[in-house]
Amino acid sequence: MSNRDSAIKIVTTLRDAGFQALFAGGCVRDMLMGNEPKDYDIATDAHPEAVIKLFRRTLHIGAKFGVVMVLIDSHQFEVATFRTETGYVDGRHPDTVEFASAKEDAARRDFTINGMFYDPIEEKLYDYVDGQADLKNRVIRTIGDPADRFAEDYLRMLRAVRFANRLNFTIDDSTFVAIGKLAGNITNISGERIAVEMESILTHPSRASGVACLIETNLAGAFLPKLSKEDTDLAINVLAKLPDQSGFALALATMFVNCQVQAALEQIEILKLSNEHISRVEFLLANRQRLLDENLSLADLKVLLATNYFDDLCMFQTAIQQAAGKPTDAITDVRARASSLDSKDIAPPPLLNGNELMELGCKPGPAVGRLAKAMYTAQLNLEIKTKDQALQFVERWLAEYGS
Ligand code: ATP
Ligand code: MG
Repeated sequence: MSNRDSAIKIVTTLRDAGFQALFAGGCVRDMLMGNEPKDYDIATDAHPEAVIKLFRRTLHIGAKFGVVMVLIDSHQFEVATFRTETGYVDGRHPDTVEFASAKEDAARRDFTINGMFYDPIEEKLYDYVDGQADLKNRVIRTIGDPADRFAEDYLRMLRAVRFANRLNFTIDDSTFVAIGKLAGNITNISGERIAVEMESILTHPSRASGVACLIETNLAGAFLPKLSKEDTDLAINVLAKLPDQSGFALALATMFVNCQVQAALEQIEILKLSNEHISRVEFLLANRQRLLDENLSLADLKVLLATNYFDDLCMFQTAIQQAAGKPTDAITDVRARASSLDSKDIAPPPLLNGNELMELGCKPGPAVGRLAKAMYTAQLNLEIKTKDQALQFVERWLAEYGS
């Protein structure tokens, strides 16, 4: 069953049990725009206990806030009881939820285009917030007073930037002004939630205008305060040259293209990223310009290739070159060199291991690491190919540098 069919089935089940049930929020927006929704959320007047009884497989983590996840096939659907939310003490979780009508539920949502409901059986739209007009005019506007709505949850400021850029909408004037005034409060939001929005902004082809918008709204200045205008001007130019499908770490590294590695890593600490993302960003920034090095040895190339980050590095450097109006043939050449290599030759096991080096007379300690590295580099450069050649290499090395 398709995602949509499963969602309709959930609506029908709730309806047959005497409840009201409607598609809600983002999926209605996407449908009205002629796009396939990523996921379907359902809003209902049934309380969580009733929802749980009606479906065979459910998750109850958010039941206290009126949200039950219903599982059908491999899909997950959020079935949320119509509610109002009050008292956002931490700018995130409402202290209390009160079950309410569909109209009241619309009013707690963030933007007018995200505040509509749709009845897929009667094919009827419920628009209590003038979302259709804003959708038609391609405008992001908070439901109600922007300053009040942002104060309830400052993350909405980043969501405004995300939707405006991904959908290519403009932010309504009063909503925009309120973001500019309140931007400093974004640091009250957890780094993880900020990171989710940043990923959404940076993985979309509109990433350059997304970052420009983060700057215009003062949001970037609030949570990445050390980025200078010069840094962001260059970053935006390079972001605009990245391939559409670029990943989060590549685009994030690009935001710091004009910064030192350590400075960049300190700035992104606020995002509480996974180690994988952090090391990818670090690698890209640390290896800027290396692909342009005419003397890049075979061993250097293999080490770069062994990281899994090589493709990102090529895209990064290509974008840097293009933004500067400089040639990219060096990168094309390196790519050709890389693709001519056999994958088994990229990171072969060392011809001799550490124990063997010590047996050959290398003193335990830092010398072993230095010798192992020198030998492995020679091996990657194809200067030594057999164990015998490795033994000779070690002898020469020990004679020259001592044990
Ligand atoms: P996407 O297509 O990116 O998932 P979406 O509009 O579905 O966009 P979600 O984060 O999945 O966004 O949220 C679903 C709906 O819940 C939104 O359309 C909106 O109505 C409401 N919503 C989500 N987050 C907030 C928030 N921080 N404040 C108010 N309403 C919100
Ligand atoms: Mg959604």
